[in-house]
This record gives sequence, structure tokens and C-alpha cells, in this order.
Amino acid sequence: MSSIREKYFELKKIDSKYLNENIIKQLLMLVNDIESDFDLLTSFDNECKKIDLLNSYVEEIIKGKPFQYVVGKSYFCNHEFYVDENVLIPRNETEELVKLTLEHINKIYNRQNVQIFDVCTGSGCIGISLKLAIPESIVFISDISDNAINVATKNKVKHNVGISILKGDMLEPFIKDNLKADVIVCNPPYIGSTLTVDEQTLKYEPHLALFASPNTFFYEKLFQECDKVLNDLGLICLEIGEDMVNPLTELIETYFPDSQYNF
Ligand code: GLN
Repeated sequence: MSSIREKYFELKKIDSKYLNENIIKQLLMLVNDIESDFDLLTSFDNECKKIDLLNSYVEEIIKGKPFQYVVGKSYFCNHEFYVDENVLIPRNETEELVKLTLEHINKIYNRQNVQIFDVCTGSGCIGISLKLAIPESIVFISDISDNAINVATKNKVKHNVGISILKGDMLEPFIKDNLKADVIVCNPPYIGSTLTVDEQTLKYEPHLALFASPNTFFYEKLFQECDKVLNDLGLICLEIGEDMVNPLTELIETYFPDSQYNF
């Protein structure tokens, strides 16, 4: 039997670049069902629960497996999502995409029942967060990977949201079913080179969801097909890499010379 305090100091002694203070605290909170840092401190003298589970998490973390995959959850837009190695770990910058999408929807549409497609949904984090933010919206999410679809389905059930999940490459399943969107949101694979990716991401996250060659490939594919599904006044919200403003400007000018856009 060990107290949380003893376990905390035991874990602090482990020399691993992956096991930092923050991760140790999160692990202790998780296995002891503690919600906040403050509650962890006030529980320090309690017996540490689920030590075997804690030790198995630690073992995987010191091997380099990302924390979110080890514990099977990640937070995005204040919601908890199930994640595993079949989907990307949702990123903070993608929360910005959701925030901007919501702002634009409010600005452009004078109604809540907008029809939204989240293309390359992965865990489903974007589409599900939009549905939770706008309950009257009609949300479809899609992915090419069966394994990602399974994860997104788990998250749909977890959040009990009425959204539709389609399988297929980019807009293909929507075109096939003759579905129309007011809003397309997409965080496609856009990394051009393995050299720019950190070692943990490269080893554990799905390459299918990360890499594109050229890095604009999926944006162009979307632009080529989107007139088949996008309603008038249609809005497209995309995440792009830092270095992609110029090539994306060129593509937008080529495909939608009369559109309004900003970065
Ligand atoms: N939509 C998911 C995310 O933003 C997955 C993106 C992807 O697979 N490229 O996290």
C-alpha cells in the first residue's frame, strides 16, 4: 500500500523525458478519480488507488507512447474524446478552427439549422464539438479510414449526438449520396515532410492523417469537388500549416476567384 504522496515522489524519481510533473499529476488524478490539481494536493495522504493500472500506464509512457493514447482520452473544446492510435490526437490549434467556424456561421447565417460536413474527421472532434455548440445544426462527419470511423462512432455514442457518419475519400461519400452542405470544415493531412514532425508523433500517430504530397494535395482535391456539394453562400473552414498561406492563396484564386477569404 502506498499513499498518493509516496507514489508521486516515486514517479518523480524516474528519469524519463516523457514522464514530467504534469503527466505524473494527471496520472495520479486519473487513477484516483480526482478532478483538479487542488483536490490532488488535499488528497496526498490518501491511499493511492489502482496502482497496477498506474504502473502499466507509466511503463507505456516511458517508452514514448503519447499520454492521450495510453489513457485513451483527450480533451478538445472542453469535451472529452476517446482516442487511440488510429486517429490524430486533437490539437489546440484545431480548437481555434472550431472557434472561427462558429464565429463565421453566426456572422453569415441567420439560422441555426445549418448543414455542416466535417471531412477527414478522425476522432470526430471537430464535427461533434460543432454539433454540441449548435444543437440544431445537421452534422455529417466522414473519414476514409475504417478504424477512424470506429473511433468517431465511439465518440458519437459517448456524447450522445445525432450526427451522421460516412466513410469515404474526402467529399466522395457526400457526392454519392447527393448531400449538400452550408459549411465544410476540414483539417486534412498537410505535412509535407517527416523531418518537421516530432519523434513521438512520427512513431505513434497515423501517417495517413498527417502527411500529404504535395502538402496542398487535399485542399486542391476539396476545391475541385466542392461545387458539387456546397450550397450558395457556402462556407469552407480549413486548418492549414504555418507556411501554406501563399500556395493556398494561389489555389483559392484559381478555383474561387470571386470568393471572400481570410487566413
Ligand atoms: N479532424 C481530426 C482533427 O482535427 C483529424 C484530422 C486528420 O485526420 N487529418 O484532429
